[in-house]
This record gives sequence, C-alpha cells and structure tokens, in this order.
Amino acid sequence: MPIKVLATEVVSKIAAGEVVERPASAVKELIENSLDAGATQIAVEAQGGGVELIKVSDNGAGIPASELELAFHRYATSKIDDLSDLEKISSLGFRGEALPSIAAVAEVEILTQTPSETIGSYLHLRKGEVVGKESRARPQGTTITVRRLFRYFPARLKFLKSVNTENSHIAHLVSQYALAFPEVKFSLVLDKRPSLRTTGNGDLREVVGEIYGSEVAQRMLKVERKDGLAEVGGLTSPPSLARSNRNYLSFFVNRRWVRSPLLARATEEAYRGLLMDGQHPVTVIDISLPAQELDVNIHPAKAQIKFCHEQAVFGSVQKAIEEALARTPIASSKTVPFSVSSGQWQSPRMIMDNEPAFVVAQLPTMELPVLRVLGQLANTYITAEGPDGLYLIDQHAAHERILYDRISAQWAQKEVEVQGLLQPITIELSPREKETMRASKEFLAEFGFTIEHFGNRSYVIRAVPALMARANIIEIISALLDNLASKESPNPWEEKIAQSLACHGAIRAGQQLSNEEMRELIKQLEQTKQPRACPHGRPTMIHLSSHQLEKEFGRIS
Ligand code: ADP
Ligand code: MG
Repeated sequence: MPIKVLATEVVSKIAAGEVVERPASAVKELIENSLDAGATQIAVEAQGGGVELIKVSDNGAGIPASELELAFHRYATSKIDDLSDLEKISSLGFRGEALPSIAAVAEVEILTQTPSETIGSYLHLRKGEVVGKESRARPQGTTITVRRLFRYFPARLKFLKSVNTENSHIAHLVSQYALAFPEVKFSLVLDKRPSLRTTGNGDLREVVGEIYGSEVAQRMLKVERKDGLAEVGGLTSPPSLARSNRNYLSFFVNRRWVRSPLLARATEEAYRGLLMDGQHPVTVIDISLPAQELDVNIHPAKAQIKFCHEQAVFGSVQKAIEEALARTPIASSKTVPFSVSSGQWQSPRMIMDNEPAFVVAQLPTMELPVLRVLGQLANTYITAEGPDGLYLIDQHAAHERILYDRISAQWAQKEVEVQGLLQPITIELSPREKETMRASKEFLAEFGFTIEHFGNRSYVIRAVPALMARANIIEIISALLDNLASKESPNPWEEKIAQSLACHGAIRAGQQLSNEEMRELIKQLEQTKQPRACPHGRPTMIHLSSHQLEKEFGRIS
C-alpha cells in the first residue's frame, strides 16, 4: 500500500483507543473533568459494565453554550494556554482529548449550564458527529451520558471482560477518586444498585470507612510528614492489618490518582520485616509536590507520571510511613510474624537478619519418616528428631498443607462439611469486593459458605466450611475475595479458594502450641500428599541430616 495520511475518523479512533481503554477509563476522564470544574458533588452511574451506559453528573462550573461544541474537538481545552503551562499543570486534564475520544467510540449526550446563563444547553453526538442540539434548563453543572461504548469499535468490545469485571474496575476507580477527594460527595450506582456514597465532609478516615469498612478505618495510622521537597499525608495500616494483594495501595500525587511502582516499593520498604510474605498494607497517600517536580504528560490516560527527583520522593514516602508505624507500638501477637519465646516482642527485622546457617537437604522421597517432637522454637517452628537427623517444621506452612489437602479432598468428593454459625456474622464489603462477591457467591457456596445479601454492601454469613469454623471468618472472606479478583494468579477459582482457606485457617507463626498439639500436627502432616511444601510451594520444613551435623561439628571431613 502506498503511504497516505489517515482519514480523520481513523486517527480519532486510534487516539480514542489510547485514552479510552475500557469503560472505567471513560469514567475516569469524566470524573476528572467534573473535579477540574470545581464540582463538590459527583454522581456516577453505570450499566452493563459501562458498555450500555455511563452517566456522570456534577454541580461544577458548567460549559457556556458558545463553547459546548468546541469541547468535543480534539485538543480543545480550557485548562492550558501555551507551552509554559505544560510545565506546571495543576488541573487533572489538559490534553483536550477525553471528550472527543469518548465521543468517537460511543453515543454521547451532554446537558450543561453555567451560573451566568439563564438556560442550559444540550448536545447529542453519535460517532463524534453532532446529531441534536437545543436549549434545555438544568441546575448549574454538567451531566454527560455515554451509551453503547465501543459499539462502533468492535475490536475493543471483544477484549472487554465480563460485566462483573468491568463493574469492579469502575467501582475501584470511583473509590480511588473518593479517597483522593474526601471533600467531594461521590455516589456510584451500578446496574441500578447503590454501590458507594461518601458524605463529602472532608474526613479521609470516614471515606476509608465507607470503602474498606469501619474496622479498617479505625485502625489506620495517620501519615503526616513534610520535608524540603514534598508533603506526604494520608492513612496507612498497622502491620496487624494486612491484605493479600496490592489492590489496597492508593497513591495520589497532587491529588492525581497514579499507578506508581516506585511509590509501591517505597511503601513496602517501610513495612519490610513487619509483614509476612505475600502480605501487603492498606495505604492511602497523597503527595504534594511543586508542579515543576513532575511530568504528568507521559501517558495518554495520565495514569503514570515521572518525578524529577525519584530517589528523593521515594525517601520522603518511605520515611513518612516509617514514622507513622513507629508512633504505634507493635502490640498484636496474632499477626506479627515472629516472636521470641520469652513472650517479649522483638523487632522482627532483627530476627530475620540472623539468617540461620542451615542448608536445606533434599530427601529422595516425599514421604515423611516418623518424627519425635522435641519442642517449639520462637513459637513458630517445631523441632523434631527423625531417623536421619533434625527437622525444623514451620507450623503455619505445615498446617496450611494439611488444611489444603483436606479442603481439596472434601470439595472433590462434593462432601464439604458445613458448620452453621450460632451468631451469623455481618460483613461490610468495599464496592469492588461486592462486585467480586456477586460474581463468586455460587463458588463459595460449593465450598460450604452460606452467604446472604443484606442490603447495600452488607452480607450475612450463616454457615462456613467446618474446617474454618474456628478461624477469623471476616479475614478469610476478605482474603478470598482478594484472591478471586486477583489477576496475578492464573489459578482456577477452586484452587484459589482452597489456598485462601488453607492460608487463613491455619495456625499462625507466634502461636504457642502444646506438645500434644505439635504431635497431632506432625501426625497429620505425615498423611498429606506433599508434606514438604505448603500449597504456595514454599518448604514446610528444613532437614539437617546426621551426616550434615557430623560435618558441621567437624566429626567427619
Ligand atoms: P481536558 O480535560 O484535557 O481539557 P476534555 O476533552 O476532557 O479535555 O474536556 C474539554 C473541555 O471541556 C475542558 O477543558 C473543559 O473546559 C470542558 N469540560 C469538560 N467536562 C466538563 C465538566 N464536567 N464541567 C465543566 N467543563 C467541562
Ligand atoms: Mg478532561
């Protein structure tokens, strides 16, 4: 084919594909416009995962009738004037691409009124072309309705996930903006069901409560630190309140929601040694920096940014979180990963730094020999003697293996033992968790959970798998929903459920066990199919053979 300049329609669809990757991206652009317009109330509604309908209403400044059509032209913006403005952007939008991009791949209606006009204006566009235009009254603000998203863009439609997945993306997105702007009143309705509502009273802890539940909100620690470069503020969880994936890390830079591996690493660095492997904190952090310190213009959807002084920002965030953590004593024995047997808590980091000089010996068979329990080390490891040397068994990993095998076996035989709860437990889910719950209630039922919807985002748990009856049910459910929503793990859902149940039902490190309990644990471990590894593939034990012992002590060379 000869080289030619592409037709405008093709160009705008290509550009639209960059800005509007999925329905949630359109919601993001519309919310940002409302915030830029100074709205204090933003109502979002979506149907059919956002493909059928997205509607965003605000009480912001509105668009004057004379500029309304212009707003849908590519690179038309009221937010920057010239090149110098690009270096100090304070609005969320600036590229003038969102409205034309959305209009290029959907059917759009807009009704808007500014405070100085006596009547508002209405515009209807299809495939980017104006098909209707009139004057119509409404209170000050703007309502944009997007219908049949990607209808004219079937390639993109094909790649969208289920309605549930798209809904959960939208729920997550609106939650993020609600966290970034506690002074704005947000509401979200998904498929006619209320999903989120904040008061807009400016209290971040209250918004966290709306999204993650009041228990999380109460326990979050205040982050507050200012240095020569940045001001870091927000809330972060104590080590005893961890989640099993990174979805609970929210970062805002000058109140722009960003996905930043750098900030995630800075946060995790602050928690180093305080959380078990695979655990992550709940963090909501806003970083205020002079606009010249960052470049927001490196990503079409503005989801990534570049800091001029990356290392310094990293340090500011890490220190801010470390200070927040240092202000609270580590008190909970339940989830602190390591303890010393004297009953005194010691910095877990110190213990981890003393790596034992043991070597994991590979045994030819998977089976375990008969073991004699010697005692418990640091309330975490069982020491035992076998025919060929010493065994150090990780009590949590071992119990996890036992539970995992039992749960899988019961499920495979469709004979899940169920335990009804005398006191049903009510659980409050985040908007995103609720979408996962709706999509996976049947799977959970197969594993023995009886869960009923109880209005808005509350669910009542009436029965659980008998093996879980003594564990912390609320924690298990939230870990389960995390794991089911996670795209990092490609495992089938039954595997994910069995893994989460085993992990959260198992005894913890730091829990003192009687000799009887230790013997029972080892006996059960001997009967599992894979006694030497937990379901995540980590070893359950370290074996020091008689031969190694003799070598280490110089008895043989
Ligand atoms: P950008 O946000 O990058 O300027 P958009 O295409 O998103 O570009 O919007 C174009 C223009 O339309 C904005 O600059 C703004 O003037 C106006 N606009 C869009 N949405 C709203 C809204 N909800 N309220 C007021 N003005 C709006
Ligand atoms: Mg915009």
